[in-house]
Amino acid sequence: MPNKAVFVLLDGLQSQYAREHLGYLEHCVEKQKAAKYEVLGELPSASRPMYETIFTGVSALEHGITNNGIVRLSNQKHLFQMLKNAHKKSLVFAYYWISELYLSAPFDKDKDMLHEDSNSCIDRGFFYYGDTFPDSHLYSMAAQFMKQDTYDFVLIHPMGIDDAGHKFGAGSKEYSQAVIQNDKLLSTYIPMWLDQGYSVVVAADHGMSEQGYHGGNSNSQRNTALYIIDPRVQPGFSKKQLTTLEMAPLLCFVLGIEASEKMKELEVDLYDKDKKEQ
Ligand SMILES: [Zn+2]
Repeated sequence: MPNKAVFVLLDGLQSQYAREHLGYLEHCVEKQKAAKYEVLGELPSASRPMYETIFTGVSALEHGITNNGIVRLSNQKHLFQMLKNAHKKSLVFAYYWISELYLSAPFDKDKDMLHEDSNSCIDRGFFYYGDTFPDSHLYSMAAQFMKQDTYDFVLIHPMGIDDAGHKFGAGSKEYSQAVIQNDKLLSTYIPMWLDQGYSVVVAADHGMSEQGYHGGNSNSQRNTALYIIDPRVQPGFSKKQLTTLEMAPLLCFVLGIEASEKMKELEVDLYDKDKKEQ
């Protein structure tokens, strides 16, 4: 099994627009190459709390990152430290809040944008702080770094969909175009990642309302989608609805590391449940 993975975290991707525009991934699911699950996002449906939930597997009530303004390092057992403890290498292209949760807080834009330190929990990283940083550049940078070295975990975290959502709302032409652009990028890069032996997970932190906000408890703000391409995971459109709490144990499983005590049991359907233990 590969035990190495690319995780694309599409910020602000609402479920309806995943189905509507991510034609390549939907094709992979229809052809039994990928698994797809609907996801009811945890609350609050805000980015920083959900980043922490995604990478720790615990709810905001427990991890304490209850809104976007709480700027501090994670105090939970998180995926990046778990990877480092398992002597695995990670490469991250993400919004600077990820740096603030797992490397240093507050973010110093003249010091923290480019990160390279194999003694820290993330080996190499690029952290952008402008919400309009082009998604296409993130994928290109990841491709270049992945040619130079091999990594066990690669995180690509584009902000274009969320940014268009805040400015124009879900359902706007601009929001749809941002999702369509990611479909084009994913359909370009996923075949390359698969050739390089990576499993691929594509998910989101939260959805988006038609008015251009998220944070609360409505379907449009919470509903997102999860796509998984991994030979151990049963492909096809699943009828199960998962939550954001599934992401951490799923990533641990795909990466071949033991989940933390706080993470819940994996609900994704596997070909052979025993393989989980290997
Ligand atoms: Zn947002």
